[in-house]
Amino acid sequence: MNVPLSTPERRERHIHPAAATGGARFRDEVRGWLEANLPTALVGAGGPGREHELIEERLDWERTLGAAGWIGIAWPREEGGRGLSWPDQVIFHEEYARACAPGRVGHIGEQLLGPTLIMFGTREQKDRFLPGIRGGTTLWCQGYSEPDAGSDLAALRTRAVLDGDQWRIDGQKVWTSLAQQADWCFLLARTDAAAERHRGLSCLLVPMNQPGVTVRPIRQLTGTSEFSEVFFDDAKTSADNVVGAPGDGWRVAIGTLAVERGAATFGQQLAFTREFEAVLRAARDNGAIADPAIADRITDAWIGLQVMRCTAEQTLGGAGAPGTEASVNKLLWGPWHQRLGELAVDVTGPDATLTGPGYQLSDAQRLFLFSRADTIYGGSSEIQREIIAERRLGMQRDRS
Ligand SMILES: Cc1cc2nc3c(=O)[nH]c(=O)nc-3n(C[C@H](O)[C@H](O)[C@H](O)COP(=O)(O)OP(=O)(O)OC[C@H]3O[C@@H](n4cnc5c(N)ncnc54)[C@H](O)[C@@H]3O)c2cc1C
Repeated sequence: MNVPLSTPERRERHIHPAAATGGARFRDEVRGWLEANLPTALVGAGGPGREHELIEERLDWERTLGAAGWIGIAWPREEGGRGLSWPDQVIFHEEYARACAPGRVGHIGEQLLGPTLIMFGTREQKDRFLPGIRGGTTLWCQGYSEPDAGSDLAALRTRAVLDGDQWRIDGQKVWTSLAQQADWCFLLARTDAAAERHRGLSCLLVPMNQPGVTVRPIRQLTGTSEFSEVFFDDAKTSADNVVGAPGDGWRVAIGTLAVERGAATFGQQLAFTREFEAVLRAARDNGAIADPAIADRITDAWIGLQVMRCTAEQTLGGAGAPGTEASVNKLLWGPWHQRLGELAVDVTGPDATLTGPGYQLSDAQRLFLFSRADTIYGGSSEIQREIIAERRLGMQRDRS
């Protein structure tokens, strides 16, 4: 279902941050807190392709954010969140990006599992798991994809069997971001082999630190390992760690996948702006900007930034109903970011083919290599187009 753009709730959420009552005061508060608390060593650390950097320090930083109430700012107050208005959420993410505060390690819990539990969890599950996410003390990973089940998620084969008071789990997940750091995994498993493939699934909460779970990091193009393979070999979790009813996993998963990046998009766009400015500076410094083809691409990149900003301001922040706005935004930023990566290495010139000792990458190289993933994760570009074609334009998929 798509939320009409003209609903009062939408309009209220579309207020530009600068126009929000009290916005300037809140911006000062966030900026002041970051200035006082952000350790210098963490400035700029841990972004895409740099997940390995200062892990312990960034885990401390999660706890610092949590203790100050900066995790779960969008969650309702009755679930322990701050219940911040949309403009204030945008301000927080913009200031976080402006301060070059580090890449988050706890975002999967905060942005995916937290909202999922708020939608589908029991009171006991919320009371048990939300405080650890909010406090930055419990890290989560998302175990959905498998070697033969990515875009076609319902093909997954990991099995879970209820045995007395616990689930026993066998199977393999892949591309599991931050599994190395995670304390818990929320995963999809087949709990009814006889049911139709979308119906026999359940969403389970599984502790990672147990003998039945093996994590094997995958080395990526960047030389680092943002994601891992995860093997479940008679892994166990308590019978009550199922979100929604057993067999209801598809509905829960659709709910999780519909959670938009939301206000964090504006922080991401500020980071994109900073990357764009670095490319522009490099082109000016080394004279690449004199090449008309490069100048054209730089201009196009700048135009793309404006389009993304306008689109995000107009379309994000809806009531959370699954629609096509998130797909449109993903199709704007994913390919844009890839093109920026290609531009960054073209501006660098032939030196972009050389790495430093021990496969040290420049920012341009890292941007180029990591952004290859931007059109794959969170739903590939082809799948986003299918969502738009089917849900917005009423086209039927050709299944021949
Ligand atoms: C950096 C990164 C982090 C990730 N983190 C996680 C994570 O934490 N947890 C997790 O569960 N997963 C994660 N993933 C996995 C991600 O969700 C999948 O890679 C994605 O869903 C695509 O699935 P796949 O890799 O199996 O590719 P496939 O589904 O096999 O797709 C291969 C190609 O075929 C195209 N294709 C597939 N189906 C169709 C169709 N019906 N119509 C048109 N084209 C189609 C795809 O667009 C793609 O180009 C991550 C991936 C990346 C790159």
